[in-house]
Amino acid sequence: MFDKGDGMSGLRSALDELRSEELASAPPEKLQADLLEIERASRVMEAERLRRIAELDRRHAADRDHVSTPAWVANRLGASLPVAAQQVRMARALDQMPAVRDAMGSGEVSASAVRVLVEAREEHPAAFGEAEELLSRAARSLPVRHLQAAVARWSASVDSRALEERGARLRRRRRLRLCPVISGMVRVEGELDPETGQTVMTALRAVVDSETRSAAGDARTHDQRRADALGEVCRQWLDRRDRPQVAGDRPHVVVTVGLDALRAGLGGAELEEAGPVSTDVAKRLACDASVSRVVLSGPSEPLDVGRRTPVVSGALRRAVVVRDRGCRFPGCGRPAPWCDAHHVQHWADGGETKLSNLILLCRPHHGLVHDGFRIELANGKATFFRPNGEPIEPAMLTEHPPP
Ligand SMILES: [Zn+2]
Ligand SMILES: [Zn+2]
Repeated sequence: MFDKGDGMSGLRSALDELRSEELASAPPEKLQADLLEIERASRVMEAERLRRIAELDRRHAADRDHVSTPAWVANRLGASLPVAAQQVRMARALDQMPAVRDAMGSGEVSASAVRVLVEAREEHPAAFGEAEELLSRAARSLPVRHLQAAVARWSASVDSRALEERGARLRRRRRLRLCPVISGMVRVEGELDPETGQTVMTALRAVVDSETRSAAGDARTHDQRRADALGEVCRQWLDRRDRPQVAGDRPHVVVTVGLDALRAGLGGAELEEAGPVSTDVAKRLACDASVSRVVLSGPSEPLDVGRRTPVVSGALRRAVVVRDRGCRFPGCGRPAPWCDAHHVQHWADGGETKLSNLILLCRPHHGLVHDGFRIELANGKATFFRPNGEPIEPAMLTEHPPP
């Protein structure tokens, strides 16, 4: 069956010799030495067994029988399929692990140690190539239990390095683009790294949640609320008195509008980068103007009434907050940080910037008031009228009474 001089005939005669040895009279030292030698030999045998399985697998020997290599090995060796599958897996892996294969082939590393290394390679195939020499040296010198611990430490360090590399890779990809498009909208496009993304999501959710609590019958979709929340976060940041200055000034939303347009509500207004907006929007932006700066256009008008101090000064706004505490729209009551100080009679129409002409309104209700709703304010008592002229009944519980 085999050629003459095949290693197998020598192996068979060596094994026959071993079997014929009489052990009863052998000294214990010899038995112990035998034991070590047989262990070494069986490791070599195991390595050779796997080497042959790998070679047969490479030659697709199982294809002739139309079965997989594990099924073929199980059938030929009379082994169970899981045992055969494990051997094929080890054989294929060892085929790619020259240093480990050498260590096992020289009898220095046991099959169970090799199994630990095979699993490590399956977990981190790329990193294993670099560490194979090191890990096979560890397998030669350490008992399996300690080898397992060493491999676990190695695997954890690969994981954390991989995690760091992934984090750095993701951070490099971060970008955010905002561009006005022809429809008049501003398109937001980009990708955020996990930390920034989480921060933005947390902030927007906080705004949406607090608005959900304070607004019944809100018809906005969830996406619309999130878009408004982003604006709210930015507006509140622009509102901060302690924010950094750029070129000696705190950046403001700049709106350019003619005074006549502001008065009559006719004609156009323009935001610095985002482009044209209606005069209603300009009028509302100009109303509190703590975050915006109004530039009036036209030959006979002062070119710039945008001031270093907001239209409603900090002290005056504080006085309005003390009186109103929150949005005065019936049934609302959103807290002051969410509110603008609205001029009941707009300053463009000659209204004065003083307590008796100012009222706190949250952003959505401020929008309504600049879009048809009307307010009368007398001695701190406010009456709201719908666009059709009928008054809104004051809410019993949520309106803030003047102190
Ligand atoms: Zn207003
Ligand atoms: Zn409100």
